[in-house]
Amino acid sequence: MIQRDYLIIGGGIGGASVCQGIRRYDKRGSVTLISTEIFPPYKRWILSKSFLREKDPQLKKLQEPDEHWYQANKIETRFGTVVTQFNIDRRLAVLANGESIEFNKACLAMGSRPVRPPVAGVGLGNVIYLRTIRDALALREMANLEKTVMVVGGGLLACEAAASLRMMKLKVSLMHRDSYLLNRYVDPETGGWLTEYFTKHGITMLMGESLNGFEGKTILRNVQTKSGDRHPAGLAVVACGAEPNLDLVRNTPLAGPHGSPVTDYLETEEKGIYAIGDLAFYPDRVMGGVRRQTHWDNARDQGVIAGANMTGKKRIRYEQIPYFWSEMFDLHLDCVGDFSVLPTRIDLRGAYAKKKFVARYYQGEKLRAILLCQQTPREVEAAKKELRHALGK
Ligand SMILES: Cc1cc2nc3c(=O)[nH]c(=O)nc-3n(C[C@H](O)[C@H](O)[C@H](O)COP(=O)(O)OP(=O)(O)OC[C@H]3O[C@@H](n4cnc5c(N)ncnc54)[C@H](O)[C@@H]3O)c2cc1C
Repeated sequence: MIQRDYLIIGGGIGGASVCQGIRRYDKRGSVTLISTEIFPPYKRWILSKSFLREKDPQLKKLQEPDEHWYQANKIETRFGTVVTQFNIDRRLAVLANGESIEFNKACLAMGSRPVRPPVAGVGLGNVIYLRTIRDALALREMANLEKTVMVVGGGLLACEAAASLRMMKLKVSLMHRDSYLLNRYVDPETGGWLTEYFTKHGITMLMGESLNGFEGKTILRNVQTKSGDRHPAGLAVVACGAEPNLDLVRNTPLAGPHGSPVTDYLETEEKGIYAIGDLAFYPDRVMGGVRRQTHWDNARDQGVIAGANMTGKKRIRYEQIPYFWSEMFDLHLDCVGDFSVLPTRIDLRGAYAKKKFVARYYQGEKLRAILLCQQTPREVEAAKKELRHALGK
């Protein structure tokens, strides 16, 4: 039986950051990082952006941190390995190869996976779910062979993938059940402007259309809508949301309906077991309420804090302001605060026509979120400060 002081399950940015957080305060404890993917933790966010478009992307450049960091810091890594069982009472994890690891403390960092819509043909060849380097490599290959692509979804990933594929000169359609893009985040006017922007860039926008299924014998031929239309496509990218990878702890208190519930310190109700990143359902000390974020900075920052707390030498609360960014065509959007509820009032400075604006979202008199388009990192930091100040934090 292998014994470890720290076991980290999941090698995304969250898992990698936990290792970094541990090593800041404990240079000696034994640490094992296990991940299903064969690649060391990498910049997942790039997969829908320049990685698709670059002629010859260098996989090594994607690593974060560089793979040598683990060796230099005496972190044992097991990439390409799945944890199949997690016994909370015995503090024991079983790997797919039958090995067991007994741990003192553990962190769940299994992230999320794409939602598969419950329709026919979701498993056909050329129907892609973009989550891993492998998916992105497959999409790149197919994008070189196929000319017509359907992107299903209207969220961040769908918009980014559609924009990248269009920039690669493919004939792109986008099907979204709502009437405007990014409807989960932005107001109708901004969303309408963005939808129009995609149309102007040559994407056929099928708004208010729902997916009925994918047709084809072995590979995709057509995409069907619920309204009865059939759109020929040689390739589809499905981006209908992400759900937490909680199978390992299913039917335990570590798996709730919205993610893995944790405290301010990112610890689950089981002492010594933490959960972070796309998995964690955490109390938001800045905006209030409880939330699960599926964004890069959140996973990275939670990882570092959970790692530090796991050593027992620190006790740090997670109190970052929610933040994410996105890129589509030549637009760069930064989103600071809580976008989960539509604003009752918007203060727009700048102009859509100039592609440069800042929109402040209010609930009543309270500032809740700031959307920045084509602004500098300094302005983004100022927006975070402004929001904290407005919330009295
Ligand atoms: C294409 C794409 C573009 C994105 N762009 C942006 C962006 O522009 N801005 C932004 O803020 N966010 C973006 N995101 C979201 C961001 O990448 C995620 O929020 C972040 O990667 C979450 O990190 P994580 O470590 O929590 O989980 P993940 O990155 O999902 O990593 C979890 C890892 O755990 C592994 N794992 C799962 N189960 C097991 C198991 N049982 N045993 C072992 N290993 C397991 C998984 O295989 C995976 O490698 C993007 C995501 C994608 C997919």
